[in-house]
Amino acid sequence: MTESRPYRGRFAPSPTGPLHFGSLVAAVGSYLDARHHYGEWLLRIDDIDPAREQAGAADGIRHTLDIFGFEPDGPVVYQSQRREAYDTAVEQLYWQGLAFPCGCTRKMVLRDGRPAMNGVIYPGTCRQGLPAGWEARTWRARAEGSVHIHDAFQGPVTVDLASDVGDFLIQRADGWPAYHLAAAVDDAASGITHVVRGHDLLLCTPPQVLVMEYLGATPPTYAHLPLALNAQGRKLSKQNLAQPLDDTAPARQLFAALKFLRQRPPAQLADADLDTLWHWALAHWDARPLRGMTAAPCGEDVPRE
Ligand code: GLU
Repeated sequence: MTESRPYRGRFAPSPTGPLHFGSLVAAVGSYLDARHHYGEWLLRIDDIDPAREQAGAADGIRHTLDIFGFEPDGPVVYQSQRREAYDTAVEQLYWQGLAFPCGCTRKMVLRDGRPAMNGVIYPGTCRQGLPAGWEARTWRARAEGSVHIHDAFQGPVTVDLASDVGDFLIQRADGWPAYHLAAAVDDAASGITHVVRGHDLLLCTPPQVLVMEYLGATPPTYAHLPLALNAQGRKLSKQNLAQPLDDTAPARQLFAALKFLRQRPPAQLADADLDTLWHWALAHWDARPLRGMTAAPCGEDVPRE
């Protein structure tokens, strides 16, 4: 995909807890890549899952990003305030024949579906219409055709939607949009041209691209960064209680994130202040060493679990 629009990137954390080193890597990678291309960098808070949200986390994330010296362009987007746009998109997909209401529970899908690389393939129960007497609980997009992506770091990825992904959720049983739909609608609405994010989201890309194509939007270019692993070789995540970033020592953690991203800040910058480090990082950003890297352990100086 050749991209002729001016670069616009973004960072889109979910407020399920404070940012950790893995989040910092995604924030730094997306920020430096955007600034290196004289692009904009937007901040979006993916707060569409009240049950998993942690009170105060969104404000905490914004505060931490501020302390670390990130400067988002434009107003921060909160997905919780964009439900109308998601409902409209679901409706549009329905009228286009590309989405259908589904009455299956999660349990039924897990029981009847076929295991695949990224979850279970929907068994197709409601694809041709709700069985008599059933009520719609969720909405699903029809997974058809194949999506081919050229990931800037991970190379070519081709996914056959029907056999590898299956009809996927676009609206959950609680009425909130599903992640793929919300991310696709917002990336398109914000005119995002480049998505730089963690490798754990690589397989989320094909359904998101499909939604954009269904809605007539131009998908961005994708670049998936290596995942930061803890001492046990597991990805750092809020779920496995990765240590939150330490707002009192941002420069030390930025230095560690740069090293993780295979940048080569000179050793004497280990004790540099934030401005000096950012200045160096912006002048020297080089994404080439990240090509083909899917995961790496955090360095010794990085906060672990
Ligand atoms: N909100 C998602 C997360 O925190 C990431 C969304 C994205 O970058 O597409 O995992």
